Amino acid sequence: MTSPLQPKLLPATPAAEDPPMMIADLLRSGVRMAGDNPIVYRDLSRHSYREFEKRVHRLAHLLTSQGVQAGDVVAVLDWDSHRYLECFFAIPMIGAVLHTVNVRLAPEQILYTMDHAEDVFVLTHEDFLPLLEPLAEKLPRVKGYLLCQESGQEASTSLPLVGEYEQLLAQQPDSYDFQTFDENAVATLFYTTGTTGNPKGVFFTHRQLVLHTLAEANIFQTPGFQLLDRSKVYMPITPMFHVHAWGVPYTATLMGATQVYPGRYEPEMLVKLLVTEKVDISHCVPTLLNMVVSADAITSGKVDLSGWHVLIGGSALPQGLARKAWDLGIDTRSAYGMSETCPLLTAAVLPEDIAEADFETQLPWRCKTGLPVPFVDIQVVDESGQPLPHDGESVGEVRVRAPWLTQAYYKEEERSEELWRDGWLHTGDVATLDERGFLQIRDRIKDVIKTGGEWISSLELENLISQHAEVAEVAVVGIANDQWGERPAALVVARDPSRPPETADLLEHLQVFVDQGRINKWALPEKLLLVEEIPKTSVGKLNKKVIRQELA
Ligand code: AMP
Repeated sequence: MTSPLQPKLLPATPAAEDPPMMIADLLRSGVRMAGDNPIVYRDLSRHSYREFEKRVHRLAHLLTSQGVQAGDVVAVLDWDSHRYLECFFAIPMIGAVLHTVNVRLAPEQILYTMDHAEDVFVLTHEDFLPLLEPLAEKLPRVKGYLLCQESGQEASTSLPLVGEYEQLLAQQPDSYDFQTFDENAVATLFYTTGTTGNPKGVFFTHRQLVLHTLAEANIFQTPGFQLLDRSKVYMPITPMFHVHAWGVPYTATLMGATQVYPGRYEPEMLVKLLVTEKVDISHCVPTLLNMVVSADAITSGKVDLSGWHVLIGGSALPQGLARKAWDLGIDTRSAYGMSETCPLLTAAVLPEDIAEADFETQLPWRCKTGLPVPFVDIQVVDESGQPLPHDGESVGEVRVRAPWLTQAYYKEEERSEELWRDGWLHTGDVATLDERGFLQIRDRIKDVIKTGGEWISSLELENLISQHAEVAEVAVVGIANDQWGERPAALVVARDPSRPPETADLLEHLQVFVDQGRINKWALPEKLLLVEEIPKTSVGKLNKKVIRQELA
């Protein structure tokens, strides 16, 4: 950005150094803060931060000995593990780019992303060998595959393996001479899937990730949010391939918090780790928390999760879900961001006067989209790009600036310019800003239901329906209607499938909000369907594209 101002710039003395912001410093900080704190992987391994640092050094030796160089792109296909955490550091620290492959995409999309990213080396868990084998001949740039094996069985595969992770790691020296380099070097790259077209690559530099980590650390220690410090135990339940598990592994490392990696998400293992490792904080999408609070073992009180803090993002946190969690002693907060934004943009930090109040007073604040975190500039604008008043009512598109937003879609000029039109990153979300500066997402632009000239927020309707005691999960979409353009339709999963709520009952529940003036009568769904399951995306969000198709 150019500026007409000419502020004073003073020359540095020739001997002065201005060190670049490097991911390596996040790791050093954690080891200094809490060198003895453990990094845990399922019930399979446990070692200290000091050992974690050595393993990162060994991995750097391993990769460079296999010919990986600065500027190369290295793909990782693994479940959430201590290995993945080591890749978060070692790969960018040698100047290479970490490509976190979304293993839940369809094989042809995985192939597209690995080809488009120009991956030259692949680390893969043995579970993904059958997926990769048929793709390998279409990925001629890949020089070698490093296998992460846990089953103890000899791998029989057609892939050109260079060896097994642990075996090769054990043969490497403990200390690697990491160099510093330009902080604007790309550190990570991954793909986001939209409703149309091929997946889009977003990428983040060392400088961006360091700044994002510092801001996240700041907000995680702010009164009214307070989630993480080195005395806490952290376990992600957002895959590490999805926006670096929201950057929290970097933040937890900076602080020296104990980290627990659950591998493949299996309900029994997750619950076991939550209990035995006494996990303080996790983060996940609302659908996943919903699964946890609906599980028999939890509702029956056999497993006690009280004291667990869960940061919810990726979709709005419905008040009904936050209350159900609270009744089980689980504390929830929400935050907002997207793949393009590294991701953190806002966090639902409780205002000082609310932080001391009872739960019912706090509930709507916990579920708000949140306050912009430090360095994030957010505007809600009308169709001509004019900022709207902070009145909690004027609805417009959210556009943002921050020092950690992807500067383009990788090798996609047109879509990049569209994303960054008029110098702001356009989120595609519609929202309001209130007098206190809190953002409230109302919907994705494409999910807003337009009925007879009125706009209805599908999120608001989901929030209200979720407050019915018999509802476990709900999704609302617009369906075409000749007279009104669109009308709302809701898919509802019953809390107790043997005693599903009556449609009339649900409508009566919503009618109360109509009478209170919270929603207009057009918001009453035209269709209310009880279903066993709601379609989800590769990262566990409600898949509205598929829901609309199925309803049509
Ligand atoms: P993704 O890039 O897949 O992580 O999706 C980002 C999108 O998820 C955002 O643009 C929002 O539409 C939605 N999202 C993320 N966090 C929230 C939140 N706290 N409330 C409402 N929507 C959210």
